[in-house]
Amino acid sequence: DFDTAAIRQLDSAHFLHPFTDHGSLAEKGARVMVRGEGIYLWDSEGHKILDGMSGLWCVNVGYGRTSISQAVYRQMETLPFYNSFFNTTNVPAVTLAAQLAQLAPAPFKHVFFTSSGSEANDTNVRLVRRYWDLLGHPERHTIIGRVNGYHGSTMAGASLGGMAGMHAQGGLPIPGIVHIGQPNYAEAPKGMTEAEFGIVAAGWLEQKILELGPDKVAAFIGEPVQGAGGVIIPPPTYWPEIQRICDKYDVLLIADEVITGFGRLGTWFGSELMQIQPDLITFAKGVTSGYVPLGGVLVGSRVAHVLIEKGGEFNHGFTYSGHPVACAAALENLRIIQDEQLVNAVAVDTGPYLKQKFASLSDHPLVGHADSLGFVAGLNLVRKKAEHLHDCVPFDQALHVGMICRGYMFANGIIMRAVGDRMIVAPPLVMTQAQVDEMVDRIRQSLDDTLADLIKRGWV
Ligand code: PMP
Repeated sequence: DFDTAAIRQLDSAHFLHPFTDHGSLAEKGARVMVRGEGIYLWDSEGHKILDGMSGLWCVNVGYGRTSISQAVYRQMETLPFYNSFFNTTNVPAVTLAAQLAQLAPAPFKHVFFTSSGSEANDTNVRLVRRYWDLLGHPERHTIIGRVNGYHGSTMAGASLGGMAGMHAQGGLPIPGIVHIGQPNYAEAPKGMTEAEFGIVAAGWLEQKILELGPDKVAAFIGEPVQGAGGVIIPPPTYWPEIQRICDKYDVLLIADEVITGFGRLGTWFGSELMQIQPDLITFAKGVTSGYVPLGGVLVGSRVAHVLIEKGGEFNHGFTYSGHPVACAAALENLRIIQDEQLVNAVAVDTGPYLKQKFASLSDHPLVGHADSLGFVAGLNLVRKKAEHLHDCVPFDQALHVGMICRGYMFANGIIMRAVGDRMIVAPPLVMTQAQVDEMVDRIRQSLDDTLADLIKRGWV
């Protein structure tokens, strides 16, 4: 039992939140989340909220899974922690590594464990540079990322990502990391087909490789679907062309599957859907459904072979690499995904259903474009609609219409994220068709409320 006002006060007195303007947070006060069950959350004032963002792209199996908490409890009672530095290992970590190797698409046999997606991407930087060093190419250290990509918040993670707002603080990116444009069809020249644009956007990688010199480039990193950048679903031609270019110039391919891994797109990994065979795969979030922190890198045979055969000691790792409790939670989480066939549900049942329902929001006067893939979806709020997204008139970004809309979503009991004026959802994979209906109804109601508000303000 606690007093919500007192918690809010302590929050603003002591808790520095990630990616938060503390001025506006203090004004409104934080919402205190207290409980979760299935796809729903409850706050301290008793509001029931449909979690359209799965925590933060995490809670694939939904809240309230006692079998995960029991697995965690059992492991804590048996062996809460031991390191994997001293030529030592533990049963959950080994079992999980072997299972991940089996689930992964390309020839992946090895896993490097971390506690987060950011640490995993830092690991990628160390791994690819080490790889080229061991092959006698220490000059091959540059890594290419993308505008609006998100790869974490550590110095290397934030540098690999292409978020201007992050680069503007703290002198990023660090040396040896450069960026190309994102495959966002909404930004394509008018008249270009989606397929054509996919090839053009992938071509930016080839241009960048040639500009830098192929003998300087270590790797390319990208999310199969850009998540934090606003659910940017690439044209189907994009990723196969990226693969072709990486192969041509012998550039390592890193797929950051922190969001797309573990079923979110209706495949175990997004790489399968995008028809690519990356050399390294970053994972986190969905591997434990967020119940405990865990991340890592799936290391393909090409890199693993060099690292193991020629490597000697790899001077990298974390106290919590292969944490037994985190790995025990992951094993139970994976068992649930498998037993309840959640990946298949997203592929053939609830995913296609969400696509159809979500697309129906396109008829709303505020919505320029609504699209989805598996269990990620996004819609653009526009001031004036047109037949084609390219002809829609956007709102002035300074008006923060997305944030206004997010407020109505909250009020109507649904969590949606605003990325500028693009509203995005990524619900738990356990969501049923009836719950998809409920979610889309709440979104429509919130769009109506937003529209009424904007009319009152004279902004539409
Ligand atoms: N990569 C991607 C694609 C992500 O979406 C995120 C987190 N949103 C990260 C990396 C970073 O993960 P973490 O916050 O666990 O460090």
